[in-house]
Amino acid sequence: MCGFPGLRAEDNTGDMSEHAKLLRRHRAVMPDWLALNYESPIEIVGGKGSRVTDAEGNGYLDFFTGILTNMIGYDVPEVREAVERQLATGVVHTSTLYLLRGQIELAEKIVRLAGIPDAKVFFTNSGTEANETALLLAAAARRSDQVLAMRQSYHGRSFGAVGVTGLRTWKNLPYSPLNVHFLHGADRHLPQFAGLSDADYIKVCVEDLRHVLATATGGDVAALIAEPIQGVGGFTMAPDGLFAAYQEVLSEYGAYFISDEVQTGWGRTGDSFFGISAHGVVPDMMTFAKGLANGFAVGGVVARRELVDGLNANGISTFGGNPIAMAAANATLDYVLDHDLQANAAKQGAVIIGGLREAAKDLAVVRDVRGKGLMFAVELADPGSGEPSPPLADALMEETRRRGLLVGKGGLYGNVIRMAPPLTLTDAEAREGLGILVDSLRTVNEAAI
Ligand code: PLP
Repeated sequence: MCGFPGLRAEDNTGDMSEHAKLLRRHRAVMPDWLALNYESPIEIVGGKGSRVTDAEGNGYLDFFTGILTNMIGYDVPEVREAVERQLATGVVHTSTLYLLRGQIELAEKIVRLAGIPDAKVFFTNSGTEANETALLLAAAARRSDQVLAMRQSYHGRSFGAVGVTGLRTWKNLPYSPLNVHFLHGADRHLPQFAGLSDADYIKVCVEDLRHVLATATGGDVAALIAEPIQGVGGFTMAPDGLFAAYQEVLSEYGAYFISDEVQTGWGRTGDSFFGISAHGVVPDMMTFAKGLANGFAVGGVVARRELVDGLNANGISTFGGNPIAMAAANATLDYVLDHDLQANAAKQGAVIIGGLREAAKDLAVVRDVRGKGLMFAVELADPGSGEPSPPLADALMEETRRRGLLVGKGGLYGNVIRMAPPLTLTDAEAREGLGILVDSLRTVNEAAI
């Protein structure tokens, strides 16, 4: 019996199912804005490889891996054993006031992989915190609160990160601690961009950047923060080369380039280990999180030495880069490299994206199939009006679930089905997932026309 009166919820839910009771309890104490997938949300209770099981015993192939968190699949022995070895030492965490071997080892690997000259790493617990840190470092180095960000971007849910988020669903704050200007890059569907080649689109975007810098800023801009492929924004892709063109202009102003690799890092895009490399950009900072520790909480910034050291402070991070997360992250990153999962992402992604594009030729509800490697999306539109259709995306979510496949949703209008399977996806799983997607799309298409 709980000793505090009223602390145990009174159970007056009668003969509701266990699932219905849990959902009711969730709605009572969790924020309304915390999105839950599916009309009847799923409680995942088990996972192995690319598959999960729910509390009712249903099995699913997982093409969203949490939210890209289980980067190399569920219950990977190498990761589990690394965490168990750390737990067996009796030390869960002591703080960054002490030398942490796992942190140093992971930072050394990240510095080698990042390609940023003379870089250092600071670990956090999440992507939000990583971006907050990057913005802080840039603002401190440039002594400026002026920042550039991209329309349709998402960088996290803290005050600064929401400030640089360019999605209308996050724009209800009274003010931002930063002075933010939003650039073009993801919004190619605007009428003024219709019919432009990539090269011409990049030219227009760069002219606009110059105009923003000359007219809306004092010129002392701290940084541009951008996702190489926009995650929450619907896997929207700026044409390769856009960010190199932006960086050229920014360097004239001494502004830094922050690449938010929270979704695009570690080989997921297939063509490069970090998404920004496809643009020919060596950024000043990269932020990361999500899958690096395969489900354990981790995030961080890798940046040029003078930026990291430039914060003239005496700081700590209580939990950032804790030994459990570091054990999981070191094991995960080693696994990705040892098994060349970037190559697997390229291979499996090509099969699925190619298959979806082929199927889409006969599907009036599909407005676009896009992506790279194991980061791809299907955008849905009303076949009559051509307008973005969130209900069709919802219908597709439910159809794929019914057939045993988990996917994600996103986009400015909530009409994009996003997928990011584990980088370990096998040939058979790729074919299975593609088959379910095509069947589900056909069902949704038939009902809509
Ligand atoms: N940056 C990007 C690109 C993201 O997709 C996310 C989360 O979805 C974040 C930052 C925030 O990361 P977190 O949820 O770990 O705080």
